[in-house]
Amino acid sequence: MPRLPRSLAVVALGCTSLFAGDYPFQPVPFNAVRITGGFWQQKQEVNRAVTVPFALQQCEESGRLKNFDLAAEVMRRRAAGETGFQIQPPTIYPFDDTDAYKAIEGAAYVLSLQRDPALEATLDAWIARIAAAQEPDGYLYTFRTMHPDSPGHKWVGAKRWEKDPDLSHELYNCGHLYEAGVAYFQATGKRTLLDVCLRNAELLWHDFGDGQRRIAPGHQIVEIGLVKLYRTTGDERWLKLAQIFLDARGPGGAPYSQQHKRVVDQDEAVGHAVRANYMYAGMADVAALTGDTRYLAAITKIWDNVVSKKLYLTGGAGALARGEAYGADYELPHDGYNETCAALALMNWNHRMFLLTGEAKYMDVLERTAFNGFLSGVSASGDRFFYPNPLVYDGQKKNNHDHAGRAPWFGCACCPPNLMRTLASLTGYFYAVKDESLYVNFYATSEGVVTVAGTQVKISQTTDYPWSGTIRFKLSLEKPLKFSLKLRLPGWSNDRPVPSDLYAYSARRPDHGWGLKLSSETVVPRQGGDGYLALVGEWQPGDTVELELPMRVHSVWGNEKIAATRGQVALERGPIVYCYEDLTDRQPVEAPAIPAAANVTPERQSSSLGGVTVLKVERAGAEPLTLIPYFAWNNRGLHPMHVWFPLQP
Ligand SMILES: [Zn+2]
Repeated sequence: MPRLPRSLAVVALGCTSLFAGDYPFQPVPFNAVRITGGFWQQKQEVNRAVTVPFALQQCEESGRLKNFDLAAEVMRRRAAGETGFQIQPPTIYPFDDTDAYKAIEGAAYVLSLQRDPALEATLDAWIARIAAAQEPDGYLYTFRTMHPDSPGHKWVGAKRWEKDPDLSHELYNCGHLYEAGVAYFQATGKRTLLDVCLRNAELLWHDFGDGQRRIAPGHQIVEIGLVKLYRTTGDERWLKLAQIFLDARGPGGAPYSQQHKRVVDQDEAVGHAVRANYMYAGMADVAALTGDTRYLAAITKIWDNVVSKKLYLTGGAGALARGEAYGADYELPHDGYNETCAALALMNWNHRMFLLTGEAKYMDVLERTAFNGFLSGVSASGDRFFYPNPLVYDGQKKNNHDHAGRAPWFGCACCPPNLMRTLASLTGYFYAVKDESLYVNFYATSEGVVTVAGTQVKISQTTDYPWSGTIRFKLSLEKPLKFSLKLRLPGWSNDRPVPSDLYAYSARRPDHGWGLKLSSETVVPRQGGDGYLALVGEWQPGDTVELELPMRVHSVWGNEKIAATRGQVALERGPIVYCYEDLTDRQPVEAPAIPAAANVTPERQSSSLGGVTVLKVERAGAEPLTLIPYFAWNNRGLHPMHVWFPLQP
């Protein structure tokens, strides 16, 4: 099938939008940037070569694709007049369809960066099986379709949608379907899955868009998915539906699923952390596209609550295993839950907050999560996963959904394919543009093509970040061009680990820590209040910039209101949080003390754990310790692990 040029395809689908606005800071799309070396190339390559095929295989072997086949079979047999039978799904949860959708989305991002006819053929076959499971009016939810006479699962209502505010996850399935359909269309130009999405969205418009029926989705994501459909097709009904689903919430519902108040009245992160973070990201989308400042005001308050009272040092969110939920203010126990999905949802929300405001603090939070509490979710090998990401482990507990240590898959398998799609599209966080300013938010060896001041600019980065703080930029231009290159100065480089008083470095320095070398004399640096170093002036073809961020080792203290961290210290260097993995398995399991006088030396080890910088800790009267990056724990077998250490034995 011939591929439509993307812009033509969108025009052909589109119609005039009633909504003129969008994010003031426009992201440079992930497929305009390629990671060409270093830390993230290694992670992305493992993701492409191991995690993607592994997740596809797991979806198939676990029966997640079989669910679509069985739903199609039931429809065929019913259409042929057969009655009095129904089929039980071979998997556990009514949201299992979404793992296939997320796997398609992640694989589509891989295809966007690198052609792979075999992978594309696999996805085409999957999409045909998914399309065959769609009911004639667009409904797509295998657990009901294969068991139509009575609910085959206690979460599924007798009628469509009626249990969605609770646990049926019907609209949740729709949301992930839309994200997959858009991703596959953008990767290949094929409309197959997008058309499935649009038939489904027409049904949603019929059932919810006429002002008749209002339900608050029990598990958010449909809002984000609908916004992506709107962006792809220009059909504003999908944006209106996203707003309808947000505005259907509260008051009086369950805080667990953020249905306790109207979204515009919410000011604190509560309930299930993945649902919450998806909802805040969806609100950011709608705020950007409709200009509704009430949404922005609400998510700004909620963000302040998270970052000043509910964020782990690793960038994890959602302290409580019970309800997979945010805890109370300052309730941050070391054995916190910190679901991998909640981490990447927090990244997506923070990215959108940046796109609304242009403030670096949001990307600081994103970076902290990306390098720590998100990346810990996958093994170095790419085929073992953490669902929760605690900051302490006793070496034995089956805390990872009945597994001790990272598991190959889960009955509830939301995290692995979610991680996979995030890693595959990571470059979407790197750059953004507003008018004559190019924002650099992520440091990684890469080549990008961006349009700034109406002109195409090639920007390359060369760096050993996060192990080294030296980042070299080269700008390839056709002719001289005036614009601002805005380099994010991470909070930690100015001795501010998080944009709040939740964590602080034990020692602060009066000087700023960064250094700069410019090849140009027509460009001058200016540090603004937005967290960026702006290099302003006329750039010449081939100009280079060298940014030096201070890679000091820092001792971190928790706010005294966090009970778990009192009298304790954690160590970090650059964006990396460190942990101690006790390979001796001594009992009882206690964190070793790291006194304030300990001597800590970073040491680059190219051969261990895929090449990391470890911290060597020398303590008077005690044996030395070697700390490794938190994300890399449980790659050397299963051992006790600690992020926080008492100052005294
Ligand atoms: Zn998950």
